Amino acid sequence: MADSDKFHWAGKVSRRDIQRLYDSEAQGLLDEDLLEKVMYTLHARVCDMFEVREAQQHGKVKCRSCGATVPQPLWYGGRNKDVPLRCEQCGWETTCGEFFESYTGKDMLPGSRRELFEEFLERFSLARQPKEKMLLLDWLIHEFHVQSGVASRLVAQNVIQGSRQQLIELLTALAGSDSGQASKEAWQATEDDPIRRFRRKYPSHAKVLEVAARLGIRGRTKMPENELISEILRLKPKLAE
Ligand SMILES: [Zn+2]
Repeated sequence: MADSDKFHWAGKVSRRDIQRLYDSEAQGLLDEDLLEKVMYTLHARVCDMFEVREAQQHGKVKCRSCGATVPQPLWYGGRNKDVPLRCEQCGWETTCGEFFESYTGKDMLPGSRRELFEEFLERFSLARQPKEKMLLLDWLIHEFHVQSGVASRLVAQNVIQGSRQQLIELLTALAGSDSGQASKEAWQATEDDPIRRFRRKYPSHAKVLEVAARLGIRGRTKMPENELISEILRLKPKLAE
């Protein structure tokens, strides 16, 4: 039996924490500490899932103590189970067999929804304000919920504690209730923002300047972009349609 603690794989998020978080938001008092905790746990979990995936697919193992790449690749099979995996940076060591056992049966592989988790990591790095983080969580819950009707195994089980049935109940409750409504409205509002719509049509600063030049806006090269776009839209509101 492997000493699993030596691997410190990140655990799953508690269902109760997610429910409490949504309740706090629904009451208009978003629990920001709890939000931090939930998002931190999710992020650590997803990062570890990708580490396991790297090991599983490419044999690449990162030291679980200092993060350095271990020179010896992960080899499978009974006859390789005693092959040592040793970190040259800090001396942490295990064996191929122990490493394999440490993540097996823990829902650590992203499976068919790799892109979803990649997108989560990308969005996570951009979410700074509590509101943005709550939106991101709500997006993920929504994705999980959409998928829950069709799959026999829920991808939500990779990151949230509970059985399939418990998770279906949670996801249905969260996606169907008024909780998260504020997030959805905020999301809608930002999507409907004219500046944002304009930016989608003119995605580079050079293009924005081109439009400004056509409209003869003075001082355009010195204006902050948002201000410049506001001025453009004041003159030509149709450009945001
Ligand atoms: Zn190390």
